[in-house]
Amino acid sequence: MASIPKTMKGVWIEKTGGTEVLQYKEDIPVPEPKDGEVLVKNEFIGINYIDTYYRSGIYPPPQYPYILGREGSGTIAALGTNTPSDLQLGTRVAYMGQSAYAEYTPVPSTSTIPIPTSISTSTAAASLLQALTAVTLIREAYAVQKGDWVLVTAAAGGVGLWLCQLLKAVGARTIAAASTAEKRELARENGAEVVIGYHEDDREKFVAEVLDITGGEGVHAVFDSVGKATFDSSLAVVRRKGSMVSFGNASGPVTGFALARLTAKNVKLLRPTVMGYVATREELKRYSDELWGFVERDGLKVRVHEVYDLKDVVRATEDIEGRKTAGKLLLKP
Ligand code: NDP
Repeated sequence: MASIPKTMKGVWIEKTGGTEVLQYKEDIPVPEPKDGEVLVKNEFIGINYIDTYYRSGIYPPPQYPYILGREGSGTIAALGTNTPSDLQLGTRVAYMGQSAYAEYTPVPSTSTIPIPTSISTSTAAASLLQALTAVTLIREAYAVQKGDWVLVTAAAGGVGLWLCQLLKAVGARTIAAASTAEKRELARENGAEVVIGYHEDDREKFVAEVLDITGGEGVHAVFDSVGKATFDSSLAVVRRKGSMVSFGNASGPVTGFALARLTAKNVKLLRPTVMGYVATREELKRYSDELWGFVERDGLKVRVHEVYDLKDVVRATEDIEGRKTAGKLLLKP
């Protein structure tokens, strides 16, 4: 096993703001794993939209300087104390943690899983957070049933393409919303039954279109990650006793919602996070096993938009925030 250097490459912020606050460094001290942690030498780092929230300040960073990044894959380079026996030096692992935009990341063992031999390290980093979000959304946030109509926004995004594939695999009927014809075609190729634009300048048209598709009833559930811009139109197309699952803020957070609006159709409203569904190692293993099962049995695939060099983090960030991407963005340290 190669020795661990004293310093490493990484990307941190010292304050929140636009992409100008992203600092690529080559002299960050390599951290040591603490009790219950493993130190992962990252091979691939997953970019997630949440990284932009920590950079912009929508979510407050826990400290400064703060190394961004919530997901990666690679091999275990060092072990802290009290780590489980399936995590050994050299084990190929994927994780959801903090400070992934770096060559080395200390991760709690509760958030780290060995990668099955049939899954590549890049596929693992490209899948874990977004795919587990999609799996837990369809199992726990709203337990999707065969034949259900489900609306997915940002359907060609990282989470979106997983939702399209998973919903198809469980027999649901997906209405996929995305901003361009290319993105809509991708959503269709990934399992969506019907694809639509948002009609951003005429939301009533969007609502009418979804109601028309569902015979006037509306959908059983909406998985809405766009947030502020689509919340009202998404709520409007949920059927009586349906579920409105709002799980992201790509256009800004939803604020000032009057609970009484739910009474018109007895709608269930949920604002979940994947971390609340995979908080223990048992939950993480259970849902990861289910995910790898979908990949192997149903042939689900991850679409990688681009693998960027870590020092190109600004371009990668501008691409995802500029709605120029479809599928997963990876960084290579
Ligand atoms: P995506 O790859 O989906 O990228 C974001 C997409 O959002 C864009 O491609 C774009 O698709 C759409 N979008 C709509 N409006 C805007 C806007 N104003 N600015 C930017 N993008 C916009 O990212 P991820 O797959 O990483 O994440 C998707 C969403 O899911 C995010 O909101 C994220 O926060 C959330 N999420 C939540 C989790 C949870 O646990 N709650 C876990 C993981 C992700 P289009 O052009 O087609 O509209």
